[in-house]
Amino acid sequence: MDMLQVTALNKTYPGKVQTQALSDIHLSIRQGEFVGIMGPSGSGKTTLLNMVSTIDDPSSGEVKINGQNPFAMKRKELARFRRRELGFVFQDFNLLDTLTVAENIVLPLTLDNVSLKEMENRLEAITTRLGIDQIRNKRIFEISGGQRQRTAIARAIINRPSLVLADEPTGALDSASSQAVMEALEQINQQEKTTIMLVTHDPLAASYCDRIVFIKDGRLAAEVHRGDNRQTFFQRIIDTLSFWGGNSHELSSVRI
Ligand code: ADP
Ligand code: MG
Repeated sequence: MDMLQVTALNKTYPGKVQTQALSDIHLSIRQGEFVGIMGPSGSGKTTLLNMVSTIDDPSSGEVKINGQNPFAMKRKELARFRRRELGFVFQDFNLLDTLTVAENIVLPLTLDNVSLKEMENRLEAITTRLGIDQIRNKRIFEISGGQRQRTAIARAIINRPSLVLADEPTGALDSASSQAVMEALEQINQQEKTTIMLVTHDPLAASYCDRIVFIKDGRLAAEVHRGDNRQTFFQRIIDTLSFWGGNSHELSSVRI
């Protein structure tokens, strides 16, 4: 069964001039897949992620996660569903600066009556896996951008969600930190079989995915699969971006 099924999705933002941000999007993601969403600025990537993450609701169409329609749920049920099934990673980390790394990571568990012992076990395993076990007791303002994003990833997966949604998670990072963050996501995808949907404008970050879906003017424009050669995949991502109007500014971050 598909982990995520988006059917005939439309989103219009009202206003003096209406914006049709998404038009007739159909997208299926299988359990365990690592899918990247790319496209020019303003093409609707964040809007799509926000519909899937239930941050905002579609104008029409349907979203199903694990066979369930989150938009049909009552408030409380939806809050629980989001906490249990979804993990979020943002460009600007969204961590609590005055808390420690460990405190930030276990925050979602404190809402779910998980025992202290279980919290400690999960914290240990996750921080070791992400290479942040040595900084567990540091406060967020004391650590680097890359360490912050790995902390945010740890927080996103501590509840073992079915789907992790990441919007430009490397957007604020230098290339070495970006690579560490992408390796962390790749590891979680491969070892925990966590399904990941990643929005990025960085072709190198995108080359960690299994498949890239390109959006242009709110419509699906193209799709590229990784196959077994990462180098070829990277080149095809760049070719597709330039063909579909990824502008030169967006390609200026290319480095390999
Ligand atoms: P991307 O993430 O690909 O840069 P977005 O999904 O943020 O694109 O935006 C898609 C389109 O919808 C853009 O034209 C943007 O200006 C518009 N848009 C996004 N969010 C809102 C909003 N809350 N209200 C009105 N228009 C919006
Ligand atoms: Mg965006």
